[in-house]
Amino acid sequence: MRLLLAEDETHAGQYLVKGLGENGFVVDWVRSGDEALHLALHGNHDLIVLDVGLPVMDGWEVLRALRLQRRTPVLFLTAHDRVEDRVKGLELGADDYLVKPFAFSELLARVRALLRRGNVSDRDSLELADLVVHQMRRRVERGGQRIDLTAKEYALLTLLLRRTGEILSRTLIAEQVWDMNFDSDTNVVEVAVRRLRAKIDDPFAEKLIHTVRGFGYVMERRS
Ligand code: CA
Repeated sequence: MRLLLAEDETHAGQYLVKGLGENGFVVDWVRSGDEALHLALHGNHDLIVLDVGLPVMDGWEVLRALRLQRRTPVLFLTAHDRVEDRVKGLELGADDYLVKPFAFSELLARVRALLRRGNVSDRDSLELADLVVHQMRRRVERGGQRIDLTAKEYALLTLLLRRTGEILSRTLIAEQVWDMNFDSDTNVVEVAVRRLRAKIDDPFAEKLIHTVRGFGYVMERRS
């Protein structure tokens, strides 16, 4: 799952990126409100951790603008343990909050709870033909048969499935799945796609992952 973290304090940001990364999340970290809003509107995040005290635009302004367009779950972080702040955040459409300082374990528990709660019906299963991915259980099945994937194969598959019919470049895949920029060496993507195909396509008659020569991949039904 991909999270957006908006936190201007370097130490806190690094700590959260590391901790969330160790727990299997890909984290995009920004330090100002305008960057947070831009990515929140144009990225594809499952949840946003939003500090209220941010430069350029504060967390409230980000939340207000975001809610005009998107329902991405938001957990806000406030330095003030005041009722009016908590109420304001929830009224603006945040889903939960934490008062600083907090224990990382509590942040993690709240993030997971929100992800479980958030639109389970549209988020939980991804389907294409007879392939089904149950995201909360991280279970992949094709033709009713369970398929075991590594963490990277799973991330690659869910990215392709969420954007069914869209051609994704190797560079974009590298950024989204490995959280890195590969300017030249996108071989890692090819290798991962080959492994994924061996599990989800090769044993079946209908192929779902297609190569777009010299560019990338698309997942769709072509029969
Ligand atoms: Ca701050």
